[in-house]
Amino acid sequence: MTDPQDLADRVLDGELRLHELGDHVDADAAATARRLVIEAETGADLETVGEYAFPAEQAEPNIENMLGAAQLPMGVVGPLAIDGGAAGGSADGAASSSEHYLPLATTEGALIASVNRGASVITQSGGAIARVVENGMTRAPVFRVAGIAEAEQVVKWVGEHEVDLREAAESTTSHGELTAVDPYVVGDSVFLRFVYDTKDAMGMNMATIATREAASLVEKETPADLVALSGNLCSDKKPAAINAVEGRGRTVVADVTIPAEVVEERLGTTPAAIEEANTRKNLIGSAKAGALGFNAHAANVVAAAFLATGQDAAQVVEGSNAITTIEDRGDELYASVSLASLEVGTVGGGTKLPTQSEALDVLGFGGGGDPAGSNADALAEVIGAGALAGELSLLAALASRHLSSAHEELGR
Ligand code: NAP
Repeated sequence: MTDPQDLADRVLDGELRLHELGDHVDADAAATARRLVIEAETGADLETVGEYAFPAEQAEPNIENMLGAAQLPMGVVGPLAIDGGAAGGSADGAASSSEHYLPLATTEGALIASVNRGASVITQSGGAIARVVENGMTRAPVFRVAGIAEAEQVVKWVGEHEVDLREAAESTTSHGELTAVDPYVVGDSVFLRFVYDTKDAMGMNMATIATREAASLVEKETPADLVALSGNLCSDKKPAAINAVEGRGRTVVADVTIPAEVVEERLGTTPAAIEEANTRKNLIGSAKAGALGFNAHAANVVAAAFLATGQDAAQVVEGSNAITTIEDRGDELYASVSLASLEVGTVGGGTKLPTQSEALDVLGFGGGGDPAGSNADALAEVIGAGALAGELSLLAALASRHLSSAHEELGR
C-alpha cells in the first residue's frame, strides 16, 4: 500500500495533482495525503478535520478533493406537535397529529433555545397544522430562435405536445413526473420552465436529466436551438421573485392558534404586541426594504435543518422566501408561516451521509416514503412548523424587548 506521505511528497514535487490521489489509493488514504499536502503548503493543522466518522468512499458522490469533514454542533428542538398532511404518518395522506424532534445543526448560540421555546408553546397549544400546498421542482432551459414569429411557433408546439414532452422526460426516471411546462418569451429567447413532481428526492439532478431529454425533442421538432439547459428562470440558488410567486420544491404552510394566556405566561407578552411587531417589522419593514422574504428569521431554521439532514445548503436562498402573518384574535393569537420554495428530499444528495441520515431517522422520515413523496412532504411540514416556532419566539422576544438579553446570556 502506498504511504500517504510519499503521495503527498509527489504532489508537493509537482508529479501528481491533488485530485489524482484517489487514482492511487483508497478514498481515506487519498484524504490523508491531501491533508498532508495542505498542511505543508499552509502551515494549518488539520488533525480535527481528519477525524471523521465514516468511510471517505461513502462521500464520493458528494465531494471531490476530500480532506476530511467540517463538523458542526447538532442540537434538537421538540417535541413539536404537528397535524400534518404527511407528517402525521397517515398512509392515505389524510391529516393526523404526531410529535417530532427536529435536529438542527448551527453555530448560532441561542437559536435552538429560542426555537425550542416556540415549539413548546405550539405543542402546549395543541400543535401546529402544516400542509404542503404545492410541489414542483423546476428546470428552465433557454433556447435561441430567430425572433418572435419563431418563438410563437415553439410555444404553440410545446402547448400541443405536452404528452410527448412528458414521455421524453419521464423516460429518464422511474420516480419523477413532469407536471407542467410553462413558456416565457423574451425577444429571440424562449424559456421553458419544466415542473416535476420528484417524490422524495429534492430532484435537481433528476429534473435536469429529464429536461435534457425533453429539450432534445424541442430542438428536433421546432426551430429552437438549446443555448443552456438552465436558463435561470428555474431559478436555482439565486434570490428570484418567480420562486416566491410560483413556488419551487415544496410550498408549505404551517399555522397555529395560541390562547392569549399562554402567550402572556410563556412568551411574556401579548397577542397585540406580537401582531404589531410582525406588522411593522415583517410586513412594513420588509416591504420598505424591497425584500422577498417577509419574515423574521425563517432562514435560521431552514439552514440549520438543511445542514442537519443533508439538504443542499445553497438552496437556503429559496428556503427563506417566507411570509409570516400574525393576528390578534382577542382571546387567542393566530400565527402562520408560508414557505414558498422549500427544496427538500429524504433520498439522494447528502441525505445518505451517516450523520445526516441519522438526523432523518430522528424525524422518522429517512429514505423513500410510502407513498413515494410522503417522506419529503413530511420533512417540509416539520421544517415549516419549526420555522413557525422560530418566528413566534423571536417576535415575542422583540415584542417583550428580551432579544438582546437572550443573546447576551446564551450566545456569547
Ligand atoms: P439524486 O441523488 O441525483 O437522485 C435521486 C434519485 O433517487 C432519483 O433520481 C430516483 O431515481 C431515486 N429514488 C429512489 N427512491 C426515490 C423516491 N422515493 N423518490 C424519488 N426518487 C427516488 O438526487 P436529486 O434529488 O435528483 O438531486 C439532488 C442533488 O442534486 C444534490 O446533491 C444537489 O446538490 C444536486 N444539485 C444538482 C443540480 C443540477 O443542476 N444537476 C443543481 C443543484 C443541486 P430515478 O430517477 O431513477 O427514479
